[in-house]
Amino acid sequence: MSKPDLILLALDESPTLHLMERALHAAGYLTAIARERTALDKALQENTPALVLLSETLDGEKGAQLVEEILGRFPTLPILFLAAQNSAVLMQEALQAGISGYLQPPLHTQDIVDAVESSLKRAHYMGDWVRREVKRTTASLEKRVNELETLVKLGRDITGTLDLDTVLNNVVTAAVKLTNAEEGSLLLLDEKSGELYMRSGHNFEEGFAKSFRLPVKDTLAGQVIQTGKPVMLSETALHKIKTAYLVQSLIYVPLRQKERVIGVLGVDNRQHKIPFSNRDALLMSILADYAAVAIENARLYQISENERTKFETIFSNMEDGLMILDADQRILLVNNMICAAFGLNASALQDKLVTEAITHADLLNLLQRSNKDPLRYHEINFDDGRVFNAQYTPIPGVGSAITMQDITYLKELDRLKDDFVHTVSHDLRSPLTAVLGYAELLERIGELNDQQREFVRRIQSSVQDITALVNDLLDLGRIEAGFDTHREIIKLDGILQYTLANLEHRVKKKKQTLNVEIAPQLPPLRGNPIRLRQMLDNLIGNAIKYTPAGNDVQIKLRSEGNQIILQVSDNGPGIPADDQPHIFDKFYRASNVPSGSSGSGLGLAIVKTIVEGHQGRIWVESTLNKGTTFFVVLPAYKPEQ
Ligand code: ADP
Repeated sequence: MSKPDLILLALDESPTLHLMERALHAAGYLTAIARERTALDKALQENTPALVLLSETLDGEKGAQLVEEILGRFPTLPILFLAAQNSAVLMQEALQAGISGYLQPPLHTQDIVDAVESSLKRAHYMGDWVRREVKRTTASLEKRVNELETLVKLGRDITGTLDLDTVLNNVVTAAVKLTNAEEGSLLLLDEKSGELYMRSGHNFEEGFAKSFRLPVKDTLAGQVIQTGKPVMLSETALHKIKTAYLVQSLIYVPLRQKERVIGVLGVDNRQHKIPFSNRDALLMSILADYAAVAIENARLYQISENERTKFETIFSNMEDGLMILDADQRILLVNNMICAAFGLNASALQDKLVTEAITHADLLNLLQRSNKDPLRYHEINFDDGRVFNAQYTPIPGVGSAITMQDITYLKELDRLKDDFVHTVSHDLRSPLTAVLGYAELLERIGELNDQQREFVRRIQSSVQDITALVNDLLDLGRIEAGFDTHREIIKLDGILQYTLANLEHRVKKKKQTLNVEIAPQLPPLRGNPIRLRQMLDNLIGNAIKYTPAGNDVQIKLRSEGNQIILQVSDNGPGIPADDQPHIFDKFYRASNVPSGSSGSGLGLAIVKTIVEGHQGRIWVESTLNKGTTFFVVLPAYKPEQ
């Protein structure tokens, strides 16, 4: 048995109060009494009465006013209003305040009980209705929330999972779940065969799903592909022909990629005849969009993955070493060749500062010089004899690249060639000295006629040329081999005087003018006087040799900062632009050298080796038919502090 209803009697102390109490008890109700406002509030809060019986006034407060307040807090609570006398105005006021019944004298027990009962009944009805409604709306809200949760989760799946199978299975499962369908499938168009195949299925037998093939023509799914419009069937007719299996109801929605329809997402019922709703169709379209996005993502990912693999294969298998640095010189990428060259493994290099990860002096030097002059060719030498040619190339927006090629075998060839030249020239020297000696003796042992004398002179001149060449070769060999280490503190202007004195007769012979400008207080430098003399002899000798008779040669010596600068200029034939990059190579002579002009093409190679051996730099500026200037910059001597 359910608990009896509690009736709250909000009445002043009076015979009526007791009459009511007795009558209600007799009718099986429980009662509580509130004689003033505080007790009324407390009883309402704590006892949760089923009905309130309120008198016209309570402890001096107006009943109609109290009705409003009570209903403000408990809108469904039934209130019976008890009037002290029959008053139309009062009744109207109370009704407006929202009472559910009205009692007025004369009061009979039965009337009271009847009024209470009918008010309670109405309240119960209302309560039941409200509960039912709440339940209904809550269930529908819950369904919507579930739908949304499923969609949000799928969205997350698509962005978070790269496995297309999982995502598509989840889409189909969600479609089945959200539409309460029996089966679901995702059909994709096979571009080659023009048929639809089942990419993913829910509640289909595996064998059936695998072998499933559906033509586009004359099928419902094909119709969706062709028209791009969804199809929803809910009539009771069976649709075997058009679906490949018997269904009672179904929804097919298109999977769109841009303007193209690439497949169909479908759900169906084979057993139940419950039709699908428009909302189901809407949910299916959202899911189909998800599936299309996932397929496109997977396609793009596959493309970038293929590109990455291709790049990685090329990168790691290329013969040359390659290292990519970011703008802060951290290693972004490095290939096997570089790792092997430095004997390091890739993980020890990744993301490290290159200057910390690879401490090879030649590489550090390259990086240091790269700031001043990008794209430098530079040698990296290893203790075991390997030599690499390295280049530094800035890459805008990324940082820079360092490439390295193994040139050990080229170096070896160069060395063999030098050895050969050195040996041959050495062995040539003694017979040449003998030839020269005997040529000189010829005149002493008997009178020669003019023609014989001329022949002897030519022999001597030719032998001198060969001897000069052999001497040059030997010098070059010695300097290049690093034997030339002698250094002293010297003044270049002093050495220049010797050269000038030595070349004076040639200048005079060609009627040339030699202008010499030497800046005062030229600092000394640390060097080998014999080699520096050789350098001056060659540069000034060339200017005299190549400049036509009567022209000018200018020599300037000055200092700038910590450097001594030598300039040798002439207004001779100049050097063609194409030849300029090669004139410091061994045996190279420019294309405009007149035939018959003496020389071997070794002079400038020697000069360059000497200059570099003194930590200096040399370059040429020349204009054809205007003249040539050679610049040499050498470091001045800085006494150690
Ligand atoms: P060479 O023995 O031919 O003088 P060098 O090595 O001294 O050899 O010079 C290389 C080439 O550079 C010369 O053959 C010549 O073509 C060019 N050259 C050098 N100096 C001058 C100059 N002052 N004027 C014009 N050409 C020059």
